Parts: sequence; C-alpha cells; structure tokens
Amino acid sequence: MKYDVIVVGAGAIGSYLAYKLASYGYRVAVFEQKEKLDGKTCCTGIISTECFNSFPISNEVVLREASSAKVFAPSGASLKLEKDAVQAYIIDRSALNAHLADEAQANGVIYFLSARVTDIIPKPRYVQVNIDRSGEKHVFKARAVALACGLSNLPQRLGLGKIDDFALGAQAEVNIHGIDEVEVYLNQEMAPGFFAWLVPTSASTGLVGSLSYHKPASYLERLLSRLHQQGKISLDGGDLRQKAIPITTLPRTYAERIIAVGDAAGQVKPTTGGGIYFGLLCADIAAESLRRALAVDDLSARRLSQYEREWKAKIGREIAIGYWLRRLYYRMSQKQIEQVFNIVKSKNIHELLLNSKAFSFDWHGKLISSALREPKLLTALIFGVLVPFSRAPLRREATASRAN
Ligand SMILES: Cc1cc2nc3c(=O)[nH]c(=O)nc-3n(C[C@H](O)[C@H](O)[C@H](O)COP(=O)(O)OP(=O)(O)OC[C@H]3O[C@@H](n4cnc5c(N)ncnc54)[C@H](O)[C@@H]3O)c2cc1C
Repeated sequence: MKYDVIVVGAGAIGSYLAYKLASYGYRVAVFEQKEKLDGKTCCTGIISTECFNSFPISNEVVLREASSAKVFAPSGASLKLEKDAVQAYIIDRSALNAHLADEAQANGVIYFLSARVTDIIPKPRYVQVNIDRSGEKHVFKARAVALACGLSNLPQRLGLGKIDDFALGAQAEVNIHGIDEVEVYLNQEMAPGFFAWLVPTSASTGLVGSLSYHKPASYLERLLSRLHQQGKISLDGGDLRQKAIPITTLPRTYAERIIAVGDAAGQVKPTTGGGIYFGLLCADIAAESLRRALAVDDLSARRLSQYEREWKAKIGREIAIGYWLRRLYYRMSQKQIEQVFNIVKSKNIHELLLNSKAFSFDWHGKLISSALREPKLLTALIFGVLVPFSRAPLRREATASRAN
C-alpha cells in the first residue's frame, strides 16, 4: 500500500497531524478540496502564548501581540482586561495553514489539492478513499484515515454520530481607525446567545466577526454598520466569510482504521469557539495513538479507542465546564448580561480573576474551579453574581434544533 495514513483536510490540524506522522517515518497523504493551501479562511487567528510556544508555529505568521482586551456591555459600558505580559498572538490564519503544510511537505507528506474526498470505505485490511478531482474520480488506499475535515457529514457517514450543537460565525476584513486592542461585544442584537468582536490585525486593518445560531451575516452587517457609525471602521465592502463552529463534541471519534480530530471531532473551547489549540493538542494525541497502532499493525476500533480516552482526559473536563457556561450565557437576556457585567465591574471580579494564580487564556474550566477555591473570589462570585442572577428568570432555552 502506498500510504500508511490519509488525512482528509489541510487545515491547521490536518497538516500538523500529517507532519507528526511523517516525522515518525510513516507515509502520509493529505487530500484537500480547496485549490490552495494558503487560501482565505474564516478564522480570527487568536491563539494563546501557551499554544504558540507548544507547537511549531513560525514567528512569520504572527500579525500582532495582545496583552489586553476591552469588553463592552450591551449598553456600551466597557471594562478593560489587561495583563503586563503578552497573553495572545493574533496570527495570519491562512499563513499558518500554509506554514504547517510546508513543514509537513518537508517531512515527505504528499498533498493533493482540489481533491474532495467523497467516500471513505473501511475494508478488512485497508481503507478505501474515493476522491473527486475536478470531476475525475480516483480511488486511494491507506492503512488508516484521519478525518481533519472540519464540521462535515463524513464522520456521520462512518457511524461516528454527528455534532448536534454548532454556532455559525461570520467575519469581514475591514479598515480600522484608532483601534489598538481586541474589542469584545456582548450586545445580543449583534450576536444573539454569543458575542461579537473587532480584532486589529495591523495599525490600519482588522477583523470584525459575530457568532450566532442563525443568520450570522445579517448580524454581522448590523455590527459593521454600528462600528462604522462609531467611527471605528470604514465600510469598504470587504469580503464577508462564514463558517460553522462545533460547540459539542462528536459522539465517537474513532472506528476501525479511522479517527477524527480538530473541528471534525468538536475539539473546541465551547466558551469562545477557539479550536486551534485544543485541535493541535488532540492532533499530538492522535499521532501518538496512530504511531502505536501502526507499529503493531492493530488498527481495530478497540485499539484506537485509546485515542478518545486520552484526548478526553486532556480536555474533556474543560469542554464539559465550558459547555455548561456557554449554555448559561446563552439563556441570559440582554438585561441580565448587563446586570452581571455591572456587578463584575463594580466588584472588580475581573481583576480578581485576572490576578488569580489559575488565570489562563485557554483553560477556562480550570480557572473557574480554581477560582472557586479562593475565598475572596468565591464570596464575590456567590454573593455578587450568582445570588442576584438566580433571582431573575432566564430568557431562552437553547435547542440543538435551532442550530440545524
Ligand atoms: C469566525 C471564526 C473565528 C474563529 N476564530 C478563532 C480564533 O481566533 N482562535 C481559534 O483558536 N479558533 C478560532 N476559530 C475556530 C478555528 O477556526 C477552528 O477551530 C479551526 O480552523 C479548526 O481547524 P481544523 O483543521 O480542524 O478545520 P478547518 O480549518 O475547518 O480545516 C478543514 C479542512 O478540510 C477541508 N475539507 C473538508 N471536507 C473535505 C473533503 N470532503 N475532502 C477534502 N477536504 C475537505 C476543508 O476545505 C478545510 O481546508 C474561529 C472560527 C470561526 C468560524
């Protein structure tokens, strides 16, 4: 057989996984439906310093550093979150995809572009992968397949179930005026159930985006026009892109000779929708599980179930706590968001959280559970936020069907 592993999708996660597998000496091919490796993406590209330092991410893809952000309540009141040290990097996401693909190719990975995987058929001794390249059909074989295809119906067709809660993101590139830090908007008229943002990518350009369960483009248009009225951006008819973000995980992330990783598996922070770091962490675990399974030529579902146990041990609790927080926020009305914001600001709860030893850009579950062990913060959260908040009725109920 020509390939040990076929990776479906040349996003950051697929290329990083391919790079790792090739570095173990395996023959790897990546199939990507897009024409180019550095094509436009719909991603803001914010990653923590922890993520940047843990993976082979070149300085060349970094557009800016970020050590602060401004959060805006629905009323327009704001509070600043600031640390002395750099907390995150804003990267050129298309350049990251291309950079990781370059690294993989340098390790011997073969890329097929404009190659859409139409079918994956597990056989007793290999997996058959059917490809459509500009109308031409091709068949490839490999010992195993890694699904790194983002949110897609391929996992469901392989019996892995489906991700039933996902948000829709819309984002546009804009020219900015005098904005030099990340801005986050909690106004539910711009991002119902979620949040919106303006992220400067250079002194004069930025990304404006919004998340919601439906009609993301129309909420983004509303946000763009509001920011334009405020003089923060100019409307120059820039590209508007849309993409889905998984909020829950895939019911099963392995099968005989198959694993799913990254957005395809729902390995995303449910609080923010950020998936680069968790996806890369899980790609490391996937590469190691495949390495062990290929070495003994045992690619059974039983053997690969180890992958799911390991990635859940790493980020499962984070995702569970994050999802709980996400659901709580989703159910809050505009008024309740304003109330909680005012309490947090007046009692300086944001400062307590930022200065807590457990503060982390990525590990929100750990932050919450550690924060709850700090008496001062625990008291502020219980009497400042939870008690007043629990007295007010909640607004909405999130349903998976709204996402579909
Ligand atoms: C608006 C928005 C902003 C975001 N901002 C951030 C952020 O700031 N920080 C962060 O960490 N995360 C962010 N995310 C999430 C992040 O973009 C994803 O978690 C990340 O892209 C997942 O990478 P991936 O490689 O798993 O999937 P993708 O990047 O989706 O890559 C999947 C690849 O598979 C290809 N593919 C799909 N199906 C097939 C097929 N059948 N055959 C061949 N190829 C196929 C696709 O063309 C694609 O290239 C954002 C998402 C959105 C929508």
